[in-house]
Amino acid sequence: MSVTTATSAEQALEAFALQEFDVVVTDVQMGEMSGFDLLKRLRLIDNSLKVIMMTSYNSYESVLQALQLGAYDYIQKPIKNHASVVAAVQRAYESTKLQQENLDLLVQLRASHDQLSAANKQLKDANRKLKRLAVTDGLTNLYNRRFFDQVIKREIGRRNRYGLALSVVMIDIDNFKEFNDTYGHAGGDQAIKTVASVITASARTTDVVARYGGEEFVVALPLTDPRRGTTFAERLRRSMEKQIIEISDTEKTTITLSIGIAGVTATDPPVSTAQLLKLADQALYISKQQGKNQCNIMTASGNVRKIA
Ligand code: GH3
Ligand code: MG
Ligand code: MG
Repeated sequence: MSVTTATSAEQALEAFALQEFDVVVTDVQMGEMSGFDLLKRLRLIDNSLKVIMMTSYNSYESVLQALQLGAYDYIQKPIKNHASVVAAVQRAYESTKLQQENLDLLVQLRASHDQLSAANKQLKDANRKLKRLAVTDGLTNLYNRRFFDQVIKREIGRRNRYGLALSVVMIDIDNFKEFNDTYGHAGGDQAIKTVASVITASARTTDVVARYGGEEFVVALPLTDPRRGTTFAERLRRSMEKQIIEISDTEKTTITLSIGIAGVTATDPPVSTAQLLKLADQALYISKQQGKNQCNIMTASGNVRKIA
């Protein structure tokens, strides 16, 4: 240890202004300024400083006062054994060191915690993205067929349990092979994207729009009976007829859709997923057969009705 001695409290404060100390040992009774005053001043400068008071005449009061003022320890005078002073100073010094180590560890811990939190957030974001990717069609950003198959099963289950209306609308682009031949595959892709955005714009947020195959789309309309399902389908067909598709700055064209609708009202008997999708598909087939660019609805009893 390196030791600096001072013969008064004032001298001790002067030394303190010049140098850092880990431990201070001080008498209580000194000249002008008492050991208690020195203790108060030193604790103001550095409140983690370890101050050991040498209390006199076995005075319980001075021990109590020293500890209340924040002394780390006390040694009772008269001092017969200097080893006890060294031991007290060593204890105080050890304590300071341990406190510093604790602080360092705390800082490290906080840094690791922050790193972990950041990593955790990244992981969560990545997972969310992955989940979205797994249900999304890359070209159109619509839901993919796999996800739609899950949704429609769930919706039909709910519909059958609670007696709710539900409609399904199948959509296929007319003469798309020809379109590809005329405008190329990239032009075809552009058309598919345009159709996707027109369908999305026609649908409500609770409707589930999916790309079902190459140029086929499907929409599930929860809480929508077949009559309102046909209104949606016909509005969509008309919007698409009018929609300009921009192949390039100079090439603009239009496209038409054939649509099949199937649905159940709230009071219809339970229906299976396969049944409902098959009816919609049959209605779409009839729209193609009867000249394309039209909507047909197929009821569970096998009745077909052309909407337009
Ligand atoms: P129809 O009116 O009877 O539906 O005639 P169609 O020519 O549209 O016939 P069909 O539906 O059988 O043909 C679909 C064509 O769509 C075949 C394929 O070349 C094209 N197609 C499918 N997926 C894509 C795609 O992702 N991009 C492009 N550009 N073309 C696609
Ligand atoms: Mg097709
Ligand atoms: Mg087609």
